[in-house]
Amino acid sequence: MVKLAEWRGKELFRKYGVPLPRGAVARSPEAAEQLVRSGAVPLPCVVKAQVLAGGRGKGGAVKFAATPEEARAAAAAILGLEFKGETVKELLLEEKLPIAQEFYLSLTLDRSLRLPVVIASAQGGVEIESVDDAAILRQPVHPFPGLAAYEKRRIAAALGLSGPAATALDGLLDALWRAWTAEDAELVEINPLARVGDGLVALDAKVIIEDDAAFRHPEYAEIRDDRTPLEEIAREKEIAFVQLDGTIGVIANGAGLTMATLDVLKEFGGDPGVFLDLGGTDDPKKVTEAFLLMAQAKPKAVFLNIFGGVTRCDTVATGLVAAMQQVPAAERFPLIARIRGNNEKEGIEILRAAGITSIPSLKESAQAVVAAAGGPR
Ligand code: ADP
Ligand code: MG
Repeated sequence: MVKLAEWRGKELFRKYGVPLPRGAVARSPEAAEQLVRSGAVPLPCVVKAQVLAGGRGKGGAVKFAATPEEARAAAAAILGLEFKGETVKELLLEEKLPIAQEFYLSLTLDRSLRLPVVIASAQGGVEIESVDDAAILRQPVHPFPGLAAYEKRRIAAALGLSGPAATALDGLLDALWRAWTAEDAELVEINPLARVGDGLVALDAKVIIEDDAAFRHPEYAEIRDDRTPLEEIAREKEIAFVQLDGTIGVIANGAGLTMATLDVLKEFGGDPGVFLDLGGTDDPKKVTEAFLLMAQAKPKAVFLNIFGGVTRCDTVATGLVAAMQQVPAAERFPLIARIRGNNEKEGIEILRAAGITSIPSLKESAQAVVAAAGGPR
């Protein structure tokens, strides 16, 4: 997932005309002080930790400063902080604006409506999850024309805005819509959106780029640090491979069966640690690559749960046996299979010949894997 730090999100907003405080990034207390002394950041200013987690305001990762020395001290206090598992390495310094009111505004995809939706609330500056549903407006947007004038008026009314502030909102919503569509965003969020006089200013920015569109955004390649090295290799080979914390490996086909298999293992006290979705493939070369990746994740036991629909059980089994033989003896692990569907008999036969048993019952196979990995939790 490409999640942008506040300053990157604001840079993106700026391109589309979302009004922002004046600000700049600093990576040392000296640089922070210099930004203020040079006038690049006006005083009084705000010094904000650039981490991906929210709640910085409450967590002491946003500080105010009235002099260059205070800006330096605030920067020194925040840099290096451990904030929700992230070390603060960057700061955003920006002018402190006189806030008259704080709102919540975002644009995201409502997957059940299958439409973009604007989410707005007059109770801004706090986590939207904590706001009463009745105080939140969800305005679906037709994806082709974008926001209609009456929809924008409805959003203004929900925020209690009229006159020049409503006009400002009108322009801001257009800018947000352009940013969301043109940048393949999954979420653009402004919390708080502040009323400052008659104007509106985005004081915070949260932007998530849609994963499936990430290939269109090589500019973010270096900030995709959320993949493990193995996940990175898997992505290059176009294998759906995810590492979790547990000890059991899962190889299944199709997202639905893969998720269900993780659930079943949990149900029987297992701890899934890595899973691999073969999808619709039964290409032995692909299966071999997937299997070798799994071996590198060093699971205690692997559950192979395959349904042969489009995929044929025998081809998958052939690939697996070939792959197993490529895993150095020292790195082998217990493999419990459950292989069902198209060409099931042939598949089971191939596995058996290689010394792998296929257990047809989901419950029994799952329990066998949990036992092989050292027993239930
Ligand atoms: P977080 O969401 O991580 O808590 P925010 O960027 O929303 O961080 O900042 C927290 C609070 O700090 C905001 O709700 C706002 O009240 C205040 N704040 C942030 N930036 C500014 C600014 N430029 N001027 C004035 N107040 C600000
Ligand atoms: Mg915020």
